[in-house]
Amino acid sequence: MIQIGEYSLSLDRRENGSNIDFVSHAHSDHISAAKSSKRMLASGTTKDLLLAINEIEPQQDVGTPDFLKMINAGHILGSKQIVINDENAGTKMVYTGDFQMQKSRTCEKIEIENADTIIMDSTYYQPDVTFDDRAEVEDAIQYWTDLKLNDGIVLFGTYALGKAQELIAILNEKGILPVVSKKVSRVNRIYQKNGVKLDYASAYENNDDYHKLLKGNFVGVVENSLLNNMKITLSELYNKKVYTAVATGFAKMMKFNTDIQFPLSDHADFKQCMDYIDTSGAKNVLTYGSNRLDLAANLVDKGYNAMPYS
Ligand SMILES: [Zn+2]
Repeated sequence: MIQIGEYSLSLDRRENGSNIDFVSHAHSDHISAAKSSKRMLASGTTKDLLLAINEIEPQQDVGTPDFLKMINAGHILGSKQIVINDENAGTKMVYTGDFQMQKSRTCEKIEIENADTIIMDSTYYQPDVTFDDRAEVEDAIQYWTDLKLNDGIVLFGTYALGKAQELIAILNEKGILPVVSKKVSRVNRIYQKNGVKLDYASAYENNDDYHKLLKGNFVGVVENSLLNNMKITLSELYNKKVYTAVATGFAKMMKFNTDIQFPLSDHADFKQCMDYIDTSGAKNVLTYGSNRLDLAANLVDKGYNAMPYS
């Protein structure tokens, strides 16, 4: 918890005694404070997503104290970092939340401010895990999908919030209209409301395209938990080959039980973490999240002044 004057600020988790809870984005591992918070600080889009996916009703907006400011994190639609200006101490701190340095198709580009201290997410802490250029991964997804559609159904398993919309945008560029699950379509509607163009079909939106698409070979985009059952169901129902794929940064580190895996990440890798620190000019880094010890140690190895947040 961060204490500034009368304010106690929690960062993406529930903490006893906090009187402001910052929720950087709507992924489920960051929203534990959202339900019970008396004063939640989040972007309007994050609040819309919390309502659409988790049925968390937004509270009345009581404004943001002057010393706090939200800036874009580049992770998923509506994701924010928080800038904390402690005027009494004369210091400026930024908590990144989940962030990404490469611009994705379906969310705002990251903003980086000069700061004294960065509280940095530690999802990818390994110096030897390096994400490829996004355009190359996108080309590979488009090429493989096009090829496999010639003789079967293509099914992507992915996160329903963020990655699914990114995949749909990548496929749309090649004129492919994917069929999506109920959860993905619910998220899509929030993206569309925020001006992100997504073309897709869904059984849950009275969509004529849905029935037309199912007559030929088609692409499905569903959450990871549905992938295996959906593969079996579709191959029995249509008596066709069903090719499966995942799109996740973890494709760089582990083997998935699919025909192919694409390392499409909405997080920063270790190199991007260093780029972020260098750009911000920060002298101190506090690492945050479950890999904080490893990220801090690896940053110290590279000459940064880093330690785990506590
Ligand atoms: Zn996230």
